Amino acid sequence: MAKAGDEKEIGNAVTAEQVELLAQKALEQRPLISIRFRLMAGFLSFFLLAVVMIITTIIILQQLDIRMQFLVIADKYTNEIQQARRFEKNYFLYGTNLPDLLEHARTAQELLQSSNSELESVLGKNELNTMTMHLETYMNLLEQLKIQPVPGTQGEQENITSIESQLRMHGSQMVDYAFDLSAKERGNVSQMFTWVRRIPLIFLFFLLLLMIYFANLLTRQIIGRLTRLMSVTERIANGDFTPIMPERRYRDEFTNLNLALNHMMLELDRHQQKMIQSHKLLAVGNLTAGVAHELNNPINNITLTAAMLEEDYQQLSDDERLEMIHDLGHEAERSTQIVRNLLDFARESEMTTEQLDLKQLLNDTIRLAANQIKLSKVKAEINSKVNLPLIHGDRRQLQQVFLNLILNALDASPSGGTLKMTIERAQTAGYLEVIVKDSGSGIPQHILPRIFDPFFTTKPTGRGTGLGLSVSLGILKQHGGNIEAESTPGKGTSFTVLLPVAETPAELKEQADS
Ligand code: ADP
Repeated sequence: MAKAGDEKEIGNAVTAEQVELLAQKALEQRPLISIRFRLMAGFLSFFLLAVVMIITTIIILQQLDIRMQFLVIADKYTNEIQQARRFEKNYFLYGTNLPDLLEHARTAQELLQSSNSELESVLGKNELNTMTMHLETYMNLLEQLKIQPVPGTQGEQENITSIESQLRMHGSQMVDYAFDLSAKERGNVSQMFTWVRRIPLIFLFFLLLLMIYFANLLTRQIIGRLTRLMSVTERIANGDFTPIMPERRYRDEFTNLNLALNHMMLELDRHQQKMIQSHKLLAVGNLTAGVAHELNNPINNITLTAAMLEEDYQQLSDDERLEMIHDLGHEAERSTQIVRNLLDFARESEMTTEQLDLKQLLNDTIRLAANQIKLSKVKAEINSKVNLPLIHGDRRQLQQVFLNLILNALDASPSGGTLKMTIERAQTAGYLEVIVKDSGSGIPQHILPRIFDPFFTTKPTGRGTGLGLSVSLGILKQHGGNIEAESTPGKGTSFTVLLPVAETPAELKEQADS
């Protein structure tokens, strides 16, 4: 995490920037398929489907038109053949109508020739050839009949009888073929009508499939994305500034939004760290007077012991001298420890998490504020249940939270008040809670919802900044914890800090594996 400051800040900021840069690269390196393109492609496919349907319908209707015309020809042909057969009968019965017979047979032949290709497509080549062959043979027989004596008159009738039987045979074949032709063509036409009826239904079916696909696409692409963004804003509100990493294979319009959010998170992180640090320095400022006072004791002791040693050096035994020198060392060490504590707290560093014993942490914090507590004449105590698990967090940042709560409690407490800190398991499994309860002035109900707002303070200028609780809330959220306040004006205030217990290595492993 980045923090405000000099050299270190630059080092840390680069780390945070590197993470953001990695996310940026990962987001930008994917191939681009914009949502606009997908939508256009979708509408184009609707359009193409409609075009295909219209063109197919037009083609079928054109075919239908041709078939209908051909059906008329086929009917005409059948009619001509039937007429020819009727005159053929007349001719053999009464010897009349030969020219009519020839004329109808010729017309049938012309019809056959004019629609040769269509007939072939309906009947097939072989059948058409047989049909043509029958008609041609029929025509030849008729030509032969022209030069024969008329039936029923005197003369050679043998040839006529043979021609008659052949004519009947080919004639009946021709009639069969003609009927077959009409029936087949009618079958084709009715099949085409079936298709014309089916096509809109098929179109509707494909349209439905396309619409389902698009509804799904829109839901996943847009609504799914918005939901993810909402969860990102939620985690930002909870102080988690981990950059957004790509989830999909392609870049689109949301990528720019994600990049902007990542940049915003980097900036927010920087500002938060700056705020934490500046507020910490403010607390150090508050503590300095107390520390200076606390340093007085060991320094006085050192001065006195040194003066005694100097004055009574000759009278003192070796053991006494040694003991005094030992005292000097001890007092000097005490002073160093006091200053070291403060410097250690004030020192700016990268957020480093470690396993922490909350009781130990609270004891260290109370030691930092020992002199303030002494001056306020407030009785401070820590109660801790036994066998509590460790927590995982940044020692200095959590110290800052508790120091802030202690200093606020001291500010609000009358002389002789109490400050109780209780560490126990929270009702939420996997969490510990620290209740910091004072017997101070309390917080009026109308103010209570605002105390965690940045810059909200009821203290006079120069005494309060209004940043303590908001910075504490930020730190705790970053630790996956929380803080809540309850207060009864005139009786006191109680802050409950919630912190997750340290994860066991097995759990950590599981998380890393998943
Ligand atoms: P500051 O202490 O600089 O005012 P904080 O954010 O720490 O800023 O606190 C905001 C306000 O909350 C304080 O000004 C005070 O009115 C109220 N407050 C916080 N802790 C207590 C407390 N223990 N008792 C009474 N009021 C408190």
